[in-house]
Amino acid sequence: MLADAARTLQAAHRHCEQQGLRLTPGRSRLLQALAQAGEPSTAYDLLEQLQASQAERIHPQTVYRALDFLCEAGLIHRIASTGQFILCEHVQCSHQHRPSQFLVCSQCGNVAEMELEKEYLDSFAEQMQRCGFRPNTNGIEIHGLCANCCNPLQ
Ligand SMILES: [Zn+2]
Ligand SMILES: [Zn+2]
Ligand SMILES: [Zn+2]
Repeated sequence: MLADAARTLQAAHRHCEQQGLRLTPGRSRLLQALAQAGEPSTAYDLLEQLQASQAERIHPQTVYRALDFLCEAGLIHRIASTGQFILCEHVQCSHQHRPSQFLVCSQCGNVAEMELEKEYLDSFAEQMQRCGFRPNTNGIEIHGLCANCCNPLQ
């Protein structure tokens, strides 16, 4: 296992213990698969990856449920516009996680996570409230080109 994936798993176990959540072996393996992929992955990508290392058949529903758990625990994020999942960049942090903005590169598919400033969040929430809109996602997704794709020759 990559050293960083190992550290991520350790931090995830600590986080779940503190929150009274159960990071079962199955959920932990899924988190490890995403950490090792090192890139945004769909549920299907992860299912395939898990299946390759396991003899018995894994039911897709099991993977979906485990992904829901990991999202709710704040360990991973679902990028709704691409149907992919990414590891939270703050799994190893101890600070309170604020809702994030996800910068999705439409060329290489890379997703960067930026936590939103409180002032920005407040004004955003106020504007949404004013027009009576209730969001069902916990983040903002913006599509564009990442720094690498903007300057391919550098
Ligand atoms: Zn995060
Ligand atoms: Zn952090
Ligand atoms: Zn890119």
